[in-house]
Amino acid sequence: MSLKGKFSLFIAALLICTIGLLSGFILKGVSGYQREQLEQEMAKRTEAAAARITQQYVTGTRVDSRTFIQLQGPNLAMELGATTGIRVTLYDNDGLKSGDSMPMAADVNAADALQLALRNNIAYVTEGDTLDYFAPLQGPDELIGVIHFQTSLSAQHAFYRHIVILLLVVGLSVLAVGLAIGLFYMNRQASAITKLKLSTDRIRQGDFLHNADLQRYDELGELSQGIDAMRLSIHLNVEALHKEKANMFSALQRLQLLEQQQKQFIGNVSHELKTPLTTIKAYAELLFLYKDDPALIQDSSEIIIKESDRLHDMLENILRLSAMEKYEFNHQPERVDLKFLLADISTRMKGKADKLGLTLLTDLQPANVWADRESLVHIFVNLLDNALKYNRPKGSVTISTRIVGEAVEIAFCDTGVGIPLELRSRIFEPFYTVNRDRARQSGGSGLGLALVKQFVDKQNGTITVRDNGKFGTCFVVTLPLA
Ligand code: ADP
Repeated sequence: MSLKGKFSLFIAALLICTIGLLSGFILKGVSGYQREQLEQEMAKRTEAAAARITQQYVTGTRVDSRTFIQLQGPNLAMELGATTGIRVTLYDNDGLKSGDSMPMAADVNAADALQLALRNNIAYVTEGDTLDYFAPLQGPDELIGVIHFQTSLSAQHAFYRHIVILLLVVGLSVLAVGLAIGLFYMNRQASAITKLKLSTDRIRQGDFLHNADLQRYDELGELSQGIDAMRLSIHLNVEALHKEKANMFSALQRLQLLEQQQKQFIGNVSHELKTPLTTIKAYAELLFLYKDDPALIQDSSEIIIKESDRLHDMLENILRLSAMEKYEFNHQPERVDLKFLLADISTRMKGKADKLGLTLLTDLQPANVWADRESLVHIFVNLLDNALKYNRPKGSVTISTRIVGEAVEIAFCDTGVGIPLELRSRIFEPFYTVNRDRARQSGGSGLGLALVKQFVDKQNGTITVRDNGKFGTCFVVTLPLA
């Protein structure tokens, strides 16, 4: 059963009980009052009648009471009936009828009441709307007889019925109005409770955006505020959990990627180390076999030295790279004058450019950065070295700087072989080379740009690759200005 149904039943039961009890008390009071009034009225009538009869008895001829009532009864009954307006009957002290104000009316059969009156008691009998009242008539010495009044109770009974109907009408009206008010009030409470229920249903379904929106200042209002606070805290917790889950998922993905990269790195390292070692071993065996061939000795020694140098450089780069990934980088930032540093590097590398038949040009603007000088040297030398290595005969390399807002762009542009667009994202991976033969020829192993990228990141800079006109490539390093 719904709350509304239960409440309606409760109100109805309460009202019916209250109205029933109240009506019972009222009716009991009314009938009690009527009876009291009647008894008082009849007692007064008896008193008056007794006074009249006694007066007659005392002032008249001296006879015994029975004879007196036998003789005077009919006249006295007529007289008393006329004065009271109701039927009066007189009996002697033996219970014999001696006078009746309505002699033609039927006799009343109320022997018990008459007997009680003869024993000096007041007794009355009601039957329908008629009251038969018997009272003893006390003379100066003894009981003279019994007086019997017969009166109609229809007025009292009509009044009582009227009160009953009135109570019924008032009771039913109060019940109807009470139920209506109760239902209206309960409807309001029930709609508030329904709103709260809907709100909790929404929370259960994961909808945390809507509140119960209950503008009340009672316990239901407090409950609504409580639910709202709970909704917010669940929302925050769920969001935090989602965020944590997403973080864990991306951490897991990063971990998987790292593991994969590490495996690939180890595979690449072993592979890259094997090649120069195989060459060295092959030429060492040749040396052992052909000890008397001076030309072979010369060639083999040169190759062994070149491959050993490559091996040495490679190992150094690998160590540097893994140290950078594992340990805190020994970063000593200082104010570096880029124009001066780049001019110095280009002067030092001029010899190599000349040897390769390449032109080295600079277009430098004054710019200062806050960075680790050694790292900058490493970055610039590597980029310049690549620009020379992967150039065309009689080509050129230009080092230029440009201020862009709060940063400086340092570009190393060459007129070389270029890098296909689709491979540009991969050249910063360790051991990645666009052309393995060309890289090997120039002593490269694909570690240079990986290291450069790491160094640039540590200096809070970025590195990008773009075309240099029709031929060649530009590597552009962007660093924040000091
Ligand atoms: P490497 O030691 O082989 O030079 P890097 O990491 O420095 O290794 O370069 C990776 C690859 O990127 C090189 O093998 C080369 O194919 C390509 N590359 C780098 N710089 C240039 C450039 N300036 N022009 C054309 N290709 C380049």
